[in-house]
Formats: sequence, structure tokens, C-alpha cells
Amino acid sequence: MNSFIKLSIYLIILIIHGCHKPVGVKTKDCVNKLTSDDKKLFSNIGFFYYKKIMKWDHDISIAIKGDDIRPEDPETVRAIVAELTPLITPLKITLIKNVEKADITIDFTYEITKLDIYGYTKPEFRLFSSAFKKADVFIFPIQKGDYRWRTVQHEMMHAIGFNHNKTYLKDAKFYDTTMNAYVLKSYDKADEDKFMKEHRKYSETDKRMIKLLYSNCIPLGLSKKDFDELIDSN
Ligand SMILES: [Zn+2]
Repeated sequence: MNSFIKLSIYLIILIIHGCHKPVGVKTKDCVNKLTSDDKKLFSNIGFFYYKKIMKWDHDISIAIKGDDIRPEDPETVRAIVAELTPLITPLKITLIKNVEKADITIDFTYEITKLDIYGYTKPEFRLFSSAFKKADVFIFPIQKGDYRWRTVQHEMMHAIGFNHNKTYLKDAKFYDTTMNAYVLKSYDKADEDKFMKEHRKYSETDKRMIKLLYSNCIPLGLSKKDFDELIDSN
């Protein structure tokens, strides 16, 4: 074998080894303390593409843009950012004007580029660390009022690293692809409006999940497989 091939194989092994993050003692300890519902929910929504932990590893700046910015949209984004700020400490999240410099852009657009959805998020991440590099959020014109609010809130969950929940947990807002947490028996419009107003904020479950993802407990690149083995062994 010539030395170039040897060196290449050595580098590939190094890279593969570098990508695999075994579960550390700290993670074992703090995961042990979670309730079994929280363990299950985090296993469901905490692992993004390639079934790995992907999140921001630096302060996040966020800017809005688009041809369909409605009067209430800046306030919606500001309120959601204010809700997220204490949940992702020590990282900070701030609104900025310069769209070019923003880590997350929220594009309120008339142009529906994907059918049957109210918005979507396109993240970019660093290949080896799995840290987010950028996220482009698109909000389509379909939803109004509190449902538009909820669309932004839902997409922001993707933009900070969450995936859809595959199972139903009623107090987790972020539980399915349709994000419809309105599960009251009555279909009275007034009831629905009231319900949506009262449930604008992230639920306590959502908050625990966000805090967990951004805690030292959960390292970047941790695989779902390793996390699931850990919670199964408990
Ligand atoms: Zn979604």
C-alpha cells in the first residue's frame, strides 16, 4: 500500500471516529433524572437530520424579510424570540435589521414554494460538528391571526434544532406536522379563538425540551441510537 492510501485511510478513520460522540457520564446522569415521558418525547423530537443532535453553538441573530410582512408579524417574531431567549441560555438570540448578517432569516412570502404546508425551515449545518450554520424560515400567506403566530412558532422550533413529534403528547405544542393543537370537542369559532389566544405560548413541556436541548447534558452530534440505548437501559 502506498503511503498516500495509508494516510487517506488513517484520515478517514480519524474523521469517522471524530463524528461518533459516545454518551458521556454527564449525559447519563442528567438523562437519568428526566421523567420517562420527557425521555420519550426528547427521543422523538430532539434529533434532526441524520438522527443526530443538531443545534446552534453560538449566539443567534435573527432578521425578518419578505413581500408579505403584515403589521403584526414583527411583534409576533419579537414575542417568540423573547420566549426563547431564557430557554437557550447561555446562548443569546437577538433581532437584527441586516438580513445578510442574520443566522436565521424569516421570510414572510407570497410565493408558496411547497404545497400543503404553512411554512418550512431550511437549515444549513457544519458537516462534522452538526452545529447549525444558518436557517432560512419561510412563512407562506395561508394562515392568519393566531394560526400564523403558531406557524412562526413551529418553524422556530425547527430553526433551533427540533424535528416533528411522531407520537401524540397533548401538552406539547410541537407534536405533529400539522401543528394543530386545537383538540377541543367543540368547533365553535369563539371557543377556538379563545383556545388559540390562551395557548399562544410554548407549553411547559415545550420549554423543558428546549432547555434540555440547549443544556450541557445534550452534546452536539449525539446520536439518537445512543440516546435511545441509554433510556432503554434505565
Ligand atoms: Zn414542521
